[in-house]
Amino acid sequence: MRIDYHMHFEYGSYDLEWVQGFFDHARQRGIDEIGITEHSHGFREFKDLYQDELILGESLVGRYQRQWLAKGKFRHTLEEYLEFMALLKKKGYPVKTGIEVCNFRDQNRVREILDRHRFDYIIGSVHFLNGWGYDFAEIKQVWDDYPLRDIYEWYTQAIVDLCRSAAYDILGHPFNLRLFRNFPDFDVAPLLDRAAAALQEAGMAIDVNTGTLYRYPVREISPYPLFMEAAKRCGLPIILSSDAHRPEDCGRFIDQAEEYVKQFGYEEVLVFTDRQAVPHRIG
Ligand SMILES: [Zn+2]
Ligand SMILES: [Zn+2]
Repeated sequence: MRIDYHMHFEYGSYDLEWVQGFFDHARQRGIDEIGITEHSHGFREFKDLYQDELILGESLVGRYQRQWLAKGKFRHTLEEYLEFMALLKKKGYPVKTGIEVCNFRDQNRVREILDRHRFDYIIGSVHFLNGWGYDFAEIKQVWDDYPLRDIYEWYTQAIVDLCRSAAYDILGHPFNLRLFRNFPDFDVAPLLDRAAAALQEAGMAIDVNTGTLYRYPVREISPYPLFMEAAKRCGLPIILSSDAHRPEDCGRFIDQAEEYVKQFGYEEVLVFTDRQAVPHRIG
């Protein structure tokens, strides 16, 4: 079984012509099933959470993030998305319905939104550290304002918080914190172990994501080898994904990701239906 379980339709709209390209590229790359994971910032239901939790003041970060939120976000309701996904399934497309939710502090509000709908699986991803979007290339100089050790500590704590909320099936792109090549110059192993243990306790899987291989300066699959080892030690199951935002990226480097995970002893990926996971042999 070959899967690509993390990608976004949101650069286009919910019409068959746009999404057909994703399925065409999946087929060309031998993918049996894809999973769509629209960002929470695509949906009106989440708007207040971003307004309440992101830094949006007069600082560099605040000004940039205000602009970011004003650009094409919150265009749909979850209902519209789920109806479109149901149509694709009815037409026989090999697809699952997921969602990628940013890490919010108020997990009760997140759960209230998610509990009203049915997904095949829910990805929780750390995109914000104390309200700052660390992955914005446009403001990446903000990284210099903090000790790297603190940034890694915040990131790890954000993972632990996601795990404790018990709202998620999968952690998105673990430790993509390396995306701008800010590599730790200290012993990061205790943090990786803490994250892996929290995921194990929560019964969560990890997203092995090739997006950081072709979309960011780090040019490596997330998670990087040291966390893959920690994940395997804790027996965390995996999904594979391209994090495609365009049709031509669907399935990109999934073959490489399969070889990558096998190096750490992984032989299975999870296939999700209605929040139930079933392991399938890779390939
Ligand atoms: Zn993400
Ligand atoms: Zn994504």
